[in-house]
Amino acid sequence: MGKVIAIDGPSGAGKSTIARMLAERLGFVYLDTGALYRAVALLFLRNGLRPEDDDATLTSVLESSEVRFDKGRCILNGTDVSEDIRTPEVGHYSSVFSARKVVRDFLLGVQRKAQAGSDIVAEGRDTTTVVFPRAEKKFYLDASAEERAERRFLQLKEMGLDVTKQKAKSDVVERDRRDRGREIAPLVKAKDAIIIDTSNRGVEEILEDILGIIRSDP
Ligand code: C5P
Repeated sequence: MGKVIAIDGPSGAGKSTIARMLAERLGFVYLDTGALYRAVALLFLRNGLRPEDDDATLTSVLESSEVRFDKGRCILNGTDVSEDIRTPEVGHYSSVFSARKVVRDFLLGVQRKAQAGSDIVAEGRDTTTVVFPRAEKKFYLDASAEERAERRFLQLKEMGLDVTKQKAKSDVVERDRRDRGREIAPLVKAKDAIIIDTSNRGVEEILEDILGIIRSDP
């Protein structure tokens, strides 16, 4: 078993940027678990599935599919979908379908397999609580709703999408509410996770903080 550093937190808290850079610095594998949920949502949308479809219908599509996160890329049935999963529509449906037990069970296996034998930095909503409860180090990244909405707005703009700040904010707020409120594996701070507030702070500074904590207690 390799080492695991797990990072959870709400949308726009800076998890992906920090986790990717942390993995690079430590020479660990980076696992973006949100990308896997997005890939499943994309898979369902492409197959014409709807949130009201029953478990058996979702399962039949999952069982004939393969999703993985490999070297920073998200692969769905052998095709790189890393860009396709970043649309607001896929973001919305990833959070809707992620509340389903069949989806979470399917991805639990995918996430644990990604860790087999490697040292990893995993980030998502339940990596500290459900996927890797025995992680060596756990962090909970947070930031004000305003700042998280601003980051999401800038990301979408960068992708060339026509969004308003207001819409970016309402999307972030709605997704958080759903992720915190679902019955299975909701977003919560693990008891043993260290809170890092990323509001008004640069990436380098946050990274140094986290590296300091990891190094002080190897
Ligand atoms: O992190 P990202 O915004 O890409 O995640 C998309 C969605 O996937 C989240 O809003 C959440 O509903 C779901 N997710 C989850 N558990 C994880 C990671 C993501 O439910 N570990």
